[in-house]
Amino acid sequence: MVITKDDINQVIKKYDKKKITVCTIASHSSLHVFRGAKDEGFRRCAICAKGRDIPYRRFDSADEYLIVDKFADVNDPKFQQHLRDMNAIITPHGSFVAYVGLEKIENDFLVPMIGNRNILRWEAERERVTKLFEAANIRKPQKIYGPDKIDRPCMVKFPGARGGRGYFVTDSPAGFDEKIKLMVKKGWLEEADRERAHIEEYVAGDIYCMHYFYSPLTKTVEMLGMDRRHEANIDGLVRIPAKDQIEANLQPTYVVTGNFPVVARESLLDQAFAMGDRLAEVAEKMVPPGLLGAFCIQTMCTDNLEFVAFEISARQDGGTNTFMDGSPYSYLKYGPGMSMGRRYCLELKEALKQNRLEDIVT
Ligand code: AMP
Repeated sequence: MVITKDDINQVIKKYDKKKITVCTIASHSSLHVFRGAKDEGFRRCAICAKGRDIPYRRFDSADEYLIVDKFADVNDPKFQQHLRDMNAIITPHGSFVAYVGLEKIENDFLVPMIGNRNILRWEAERERVTKLFEAANIRKPQKIYGPDKIDRPCMVKFPGARGGRGYFVTDSPAGFDEKIKLMVKKGWLEEADRERAHIEEYVAGDIYCMHYFYSPLTKTVEMLGMDRRHEANIDGLVRIPAKDQIEANLQPTYVVTGNFPVVARESLLDQAFAMGDRLAEVAEKMVPPGLLGAFCIQTMCTDNLEFVAFEISARQDGGTNTFMDGSPYSYLKYGPGMSMGRRYCLELKEALKQNRLEDIVT
C-alpha cells in the first residue's frame, strides 16, 4: 500500500514537536546533516551499519547511534516504531534511497522525511528524467536511437546505480561492439547489457553540479552550492600525455571517487537559477508536492556557455559534501556556515515555529 500524505500527517500528529530527532543513515552526505542539526539545536540519531560507525563517532555526529546489520533493516516494523517513538524526521540522501529501496520508501517506510518520497523514483528512471527536462525546457544531450545510428562521439550508459562503471565513449557502431566486448571481459557489463545501453551525444564541456534547495515555506528555489566530480580513471588518465595515453591503452571509466567545489562565471547564474526554478515548477505539477528540499541538476557547460543537463538528484546529492561549512553561494544568502544539512534543519525549525510541519514532509 502506497504511503499517503494523510498517513504521514497521522504520524506527525502524534509527534512531540519539542522533541524532534533529526535522523538519517550514516553514509553518503550525512555528516553535514548531523552537524547542521546540532547547529540548529536538534537531537540527532545516526543509523550506522555494523563496523562502519567509526567516522560518525570520531566526528561526534550524533546523540544516539543505532547499529544495524544492514541498512535495509530500517524497514523492520519494530525499528520504524523506534524511530517514530523518538519523533524522528529523516533526511533522505543517495545511500538512503539505494539501501532502503525505492519500493520500501514508497510503500512501507512510515517515518516522515523532509522531501517528496514519490519523486525519488523519477531520478532513477531515465525516461522520467527526460520527461522532467522536456517539460522544464532544460537542454539535455541528444539521444541516439541504437548502436547502428552512432555517427558522432557518444557516451554509452547503462541502467542502475553503478557510479559510472561500465560507461564508455565511442564514435561508431564498430567501436560500440568492441567496447561492449571489452567491458564484458572486464566483468563490468554482461552481454545482456548490450540491449540496455543508453546512447547519447558526448557533450564536450565542464561539469557543473548545481545544488538547489526548494523551500515550501517561502516557495523559492535557493542556490546553495556547486561542485565537480573526481572520477576515476578519467581524471587520472588525462594527466598522461596523449602519446602515452595511446600506448597505455587504458579504457576511460567514470567512477565517482570524490567531489570538489566550483563557482560558475557570474554571467551563468541567471541560467542556473532559471533551470532550478523551471524544474521545481514542473515537478510540482507532475509529481506533487514537487521537489521539496534539496535537489541537484548535473550539467556540462559547453563553450557556447550553455548548460546541458544529464542527470538529477531529487534529494540531497553527494556533491553537497563540498560545502559542509558553507559555499560561496550559501555565504551570499546566509553568511558563513550554511551547509545543505543545516539548511534542512533551518527549514524544519521554521516549519515547527509556524506549525507547518506537514508542508515540508511526506
Ligand atoms: P552520470 O552517471 O550520468 O552522472 O555520468 C557520470 C559521468 O559521465 C559524468 O560525471 C560525466 O563526467 C560523464 N558524462 C555523463 N554524460 C555525459 C555526456 N552526455 N557527455 C559527456 N560526458 C558525460
